[in-house]
Formats: sequence, structure tokens, C-alpha cells
Amino acid sequence: MPIYEYECKSCGKHFEVWQKITDEPLKVCKECGGELIKLISESSFILKGTGWYVTDYARKEKEKKRKRKKNKKKKILL
Ligand SMILES: [Zn+2]
Repeated sequence: MPIYEYECKSCGKHFEVWQKITDEPLKVCKECGGELIKLISESSFILKGTGWYVTDYARKEKEKKRKRKKNKKKKILL
């Protein structure tokens, strides 16, 4: 679930809200009732980064297994 970041036009307050993609974006500031602007959240960017890391790690594990198999073949050949 992504984190959405909002800023209030009236009081300048920042909100970070966990929302489903299907949820409607917030429009009204809880503090002053002012209009909210939706911002691109750095937090959701970090989550994407973690996903890339996990994928990369899984790929490296597969490569390690492949290398082990190659080593076994070499031993047999020797
Ligand atoms: Zn406000």
C-alpha cells in the first residue's frame, strides 16, 4: 500500500497517509479545513527501492546456485 503525502495550501501542514490505490485522495486539511495538494512521497520511493533490492538479491542467489552447479561439474571432470 503506497504512502501519499499532502500539503495544506492554507496552513502548510504536511500529511503522510497510507491509502489504497483505489481510495479517493484527501482534499481537505484536518487541521484547518484548507485545500490539500497531493505531493510525490519520498517514502513510497524508498519502498520501490527495497523492492528492487529484494529482486536483485533473489537474482544473485540464483546465480550462486548456478555457480555451485558449475563447480560440481568441474570436480566430476577432474
Ligand atoms: Zn491546513
